Amino acid sequence: MKIGVLALQGDFREHRKVVEQLGFSTCPVRRPGDIDGIDGLIIPGGESTTISKLLRKWNLFDLIRGEAENGLPLFGTCAGLILMAKEVVNGPPTLGLMDITLERNAYGRQIESFETELEFRSDGDGAEGNGSIKGVFIRAPQVTKVGSEVKQLATHEGLPVLLRQDNLLGATFHPELTDDPGIHEYFLREMVRKSSRVG
Ligand code: GLN
Repeated sequence: MKIGVLALQGDFREHRKVVEQLGFSTCPVRRPGDIDGIDGLIIPGGESTTISKLLRKWNLFDLIRGEAENGLPLFGTCAGLILMAKEVVNGPPTLGLMDITLERNAYGRQIESFETELEFRSDGDGAEGNGSIKGVFIRAPQVTKVGSEVKQLATHEGLPVLLRQDNLLGATFHPELTDDPGIHEYFLREMVRKSSRVG
């Protein structure tokens, strides 16, 4: 199995490292041909406006949206989740996949960045990964509206910070910047391995 990591801008190296440590191979996705044969795709944290522009520049925008609509497992962190959202306040054009509304940079200046413990509830049938996880928030967005199809796998101060809608997983924080691979493990085991696309 091969996991693509969108490598236009942001912390894609960190994501590749975590996924490879978990025993999966990865490939950077920079051009349309790089999508061929991948079983899952990660959109990293970074600057959502820049990534959005580059997605269009390199003709990846509609391609990734189409693949995700066809069931390709997608995992976005921070800017990556912003790009997956249906609606973003003050944001760039997004792929419009997950039924949520986000506000960018919503934590204000003083706590622009912080670290906290989160309770991860995967609540699937025997799904991996329940327990405490470290949340690193860096100029994170806040989720202000959640559609009924979206499961909240972790919250912080009443706001959802880890969300799943079918084949889409998104975090407002950065699991790739900690030494805890739990969320990646969940994505790989529960979403990529169990995907109907994998034969
Ligand atoms: N604030 C950034 C944005 O709006 C996201 C920050 C991040 O990915 N850590 O794109």
